[in-house]
Amino acid sequence: MIITEQKLFAQIIDSLKDFNKIFLVGCGECATTCKTGGEPEVVKLKGLLEGQGKTIVGMCIPGAPCLAAQVKTEFAKNMKALREAEAILVLACGLGVQSVKDNDRLEHPVIPALNTMFGAVMDAAGNFYEKCSLCGECVLDITGGICPITLCPKGLLNGPCGGMDKGKCEVDKDKDCVWALIYKELDKKNKLEKMKEIQKPKDYKKSGKPHKLIITEESKT
Ligand code: SF4
Ligand code: SF4
Repeated sequence: MIITEQKLFAQIIDSLKDFNKIFLVGCGECATTCKTGGEPEVVKLKGLLEGQGKTIVGMCIPGAPCLAAQVKTEFAKNMKALREAEAILVLACGLGVQSVKDNDRLEHPVIPALNTMFGAVMDAAGNFYEKCSLCGECVLDITGGICPITLCPKGLLNGPCGGMDKGKCEVDKDKDCVWALIYKELDKKNKLEKMKEIQKPKDYKKSGKPHKLIITEESKT
């Protein structure tokens, strides 16, 4: 999931300084889980903006605003309010903001209310941890399911750097070196021979941006 944090209210107000009538868009997926763009946060921000003299002409919370179909469906239901709006404030990640922009046929100014931080997993206690950098060439099968690209500050692929000290990372001594963790994991699974497989330098062309994946009729079959 994509982790977001709410921008400072003063920043939001500043970005809305040229607009009075605002339409709010939340996110029913990641931003709801992060408690940055679900219904309680949208309603709270509405109250705060009204307290600053803004008129909230309407709001919606698509299940996932990064999906065009969901934005289009919600916008069709809210067309009257959207015609009144001078700008749309989006409580979603950067994907959601851009999807709203791309699918708003009235072409409003679209303003982000959140900062997009990273992709993460959530543990049972509700904490978020970045675990994947979307490198396009996954090596988890040879690293015991632990990602060195993301968890090693140097992104090393063939064992630890010379700075590892008693299993701790030289960049942050409070953290375990990811290669110590990988070693332990492979040892536990009797797969230590994988440590001897030399990984070629990564093809970072695969993580060049922007990515796209076009779905054709052939690729569906
Ligand atoms: S190697 Fe790491 S960064 Fe690359 S796809 Fe796998 S988990 Fe993601
Ligand atoms: S000590 Fe380990 S985790 Fe830290 S930079 Fe070196 S190899 Fe990476």
